[in-house]
Amino acid sequence: MLPVHHPRALWRAHGYLPVEVWGPPGTDATPAGAHLQPFLCSIPRCGLAFHLAGGLRDVDVVVVPHACDALQGLGSILTDLPPRPLPALTPYLPRATGEVAVAFLAAEIATLSTRLAEGSQRGPTADDLLAAALDEEAADAAFRALLDARPRISLSNAAFYEAVRSREYLPPAEFRAVAEVALAATGPVDGIPVLLSGIVPEPAGLLACLDRHGVRVVADDTACVGRRRYAPGTSTEPFRRMAEALGSGPPDTTRGSPLSERVAYVVALAAQTGARAALLAIPGSCDPELFALPVLRQALEAAGVRTLHLETDLSMPFTAQADTRVEALLESLP
Ligand code: SF4
Repeated sequence: MLPVHHPRALWRAHGYLPVEVWGPPGTDATPAGAHLQPFLCSIPRCGLAFHLAGGLRDVDVVVVPHACDALQGLGSILTDLPPRPLPALTPYLPRATGEVAVAFLAAEIATLSTRLAEGSQRGPTADDLLAAALDEEAADAAFRALLDARPRISLSNAAFYEAVRSREYLPPAEFRAVAEVALAATGPVDGIPVLLSGIVPEPAGLLACLDRHGVRVVADDTACVGRRRYAPGTSTEPFRRMAEALGSGPPDTTRGSPLSERVAYVVALAAQTGARAALLAIPGSCDPELFALPVLRQALEAAGVRTLHLETDLSMPFTAQADTRVEALLESLP
């Protein structure tokens, strides 16, 4: 799975173990330069380099949901490249909301299900699919509870994100167990309250930097975490239910949400959580995020929330220069 939105329940109902690959960080992206434009962000370049180095050798199928042109391009070439051709599915997410979007996405998920069932004796039944959807909804509820409780959880930023991002690879029951342990870690909390936005809190040095400087991430608006606060679906038809849940997340640039909705959501999130500053960790050349960035920053600053845009590169370590910029932001807070 490459970012961002995908129907976890569908893969599980078909017997797959979905594991998300956000980069991965620390990958030498140089080999990808033979196949992808060097000006693309580091996520598809690291992902392709990881594949070229054999990192996906045990994978049966790769899913690259449409989030941007860069990922769409990656999905289109994965089937042809060494070390072995990979079956790649490239579902398209609707750039709309409401009934038309749910119907489109439900049809897209049904098509994926047909593709996955091709060649097998028997695909999952409607009951199997619905049970998987309910399982994922229970894990989504634990995920939302974890995010809501963050201001009271005494874990460091690094430990909290390790727990919450285990949703990217753990089966639902195992994730719920991890969430329960994290939710029990309440106690005295301190630190400068900050909102974290962008795509993914990487490189890992970013969270270590925030912990070192006494920052407490109280609100998350990253694509890999906060923008996947899915509400449960309501339909008893499994594909439609999965579509309802998948389309229920907060406004997201990678889903083409209106800019005004996205800005209003982030400003309200900062106000609700008492964030005094916002860190916008965005991979260089990320068109969807950079398009929204000026208006988002302006709105946050107007609401009294100081902002810092950090351009990230998952193939590189977190830099001392970026560390200094975080420190300067914190020193400038009133
Ligand atoms: S960081 Fe931005 S441009 Fe890169 S893959 Fe993610 S959404 Fe696409």
